[in-house]
Amino acid sequence: MNAKRILVTGAAGFLGSHLCDSLLDAGNSVIGVDNLSTGNEANLAHLRNEPRFDFDRLDICQPFDPGKIDFVFNFASPASPVDYARLGVETLLVGSAGTINTLEIAKKYHAGYLHASTSECYGDPEVHPQTETYWGHVNPIGPRSVYDEAKRFSEAAVMAYHRYHRVNTHLVRIFNTYGPRLQINDGRVISNLMSQALRGEPLTIYGDGMQTRSFCYVSDLIAGILALADSDEHLPVNIGNPEEWTILSCAEEILKLIGSDKKVVFKPLPQDDPTRRRPDISKATRLLGWTPKIQLRQGLEMSLAYFQAHAETGLVQNS
Ligand code: NAD
Ligand code: UDP
Repeated sequence: MNAKRILVTGAAGFLGSHLCDSLLDAGNSVIGVDNLSTGNEANLAHLRNEPRFDFDRLDICQPFDPGKIDFVFNFASPASPVDYARLGVETLLVGSAGTINTLEIAKKYHAGYLHASTSECYGDPEVHPQTETYWGHVNPIGPRSVYDEAKRFSEAAVMAYHRYHRVNTHLVRIFNTYGPRLQINDGRVISNLMSQALRGEPLTIYGDGMQTRSFCYVSDLIAGILALADSDEHLPVNIGNPEEWTILSCAEEILKLIGSDKKVVFKPLPQDDPTRRRPDISKATRLLGWTPKIQLRQGLEMSLAYFQAHAETGLVQNS
């Protein structure tokens, strides 16, 4: 991308703050907005004296106007199952009203638009690994539906603004991503297990731990997203790391990394928890020339200093 004026929603969150850094590093100006419902201004503290960065605390569910911009990255939304269970209606609203408001901004300023969608659009998938052509298996009235259906609505809204208003839109389906700035107490598996291991507590495994996820390191994800934003692709693209782990083996890897002899404790599996998840990334590789570079062990090592610095401050949330 040439230097642009870019709006990032959800800028104080885990992914939004890394995205702001990469966009600024590339010479752009960035307006970050966030209502701080699940994010933390500390994620942006290092940008306090950056003249090309502005921050506005606002809720994107209310219409707002950032002035002339060239591109919108829409990343605002609770993302952890514990957060969206707590903020159910807010999650539905940000996926619907928030997405429409930001699409209106892109339409008004003839700006490009990239929406952070999710592997949760596939629900508890019957197709494995998940390809973008799979329509998903989502319980529309279960506890995860506030997130899954909001994201599915937002995909429909993005496609509608592309079709009816010719907005240059992009949809990324993000698979489980981790790294520094993941909120310690957001209840996601890497935040919980890393901080439990560092505090010398047993690691909480929901169910029998045989369910799988595929974990992507944050710098790989951001590289894929920037490549997609620069592309001509309007249909959804999976970005994630296809290396698939059972949750139990992920916990064992974390115990090995920390050198802890603590064990795991088993807790009930939350309702509708997907049984397995792994992205088929052949579309991203073919269209964008993108593949992830960092495997789980290395990414956990790269995140260790962050978790060591914060493990004591945050309480682990269980579902
Ligand atoms: P996060 O909770 O750290 O960040 C989300 C940010 O959005 C927070 O700073 C929060 O305060 C802000 N926000 C929420 N509602 C808002 C509103 N109404 N107005 C303004 N700001 C609001 O989560 P994250 O992991 O950084 O996720 C960012 C985006 O990526 C989300 O849209 C999420 O659904 C998507 N995503 C993330 C992952 C992942 O593994 N991290 C996977 C799939 C999709
Ligand atoms: N999980 C777990 N222990 C925890 C937190 C999560 O076993 O302390 C499991 C959870 O049930 C799910 C997987 O880890 O099967 C990933 O959970 P996360 O909340 O990180 O993300 P999801 O992919 O479910 O959105």
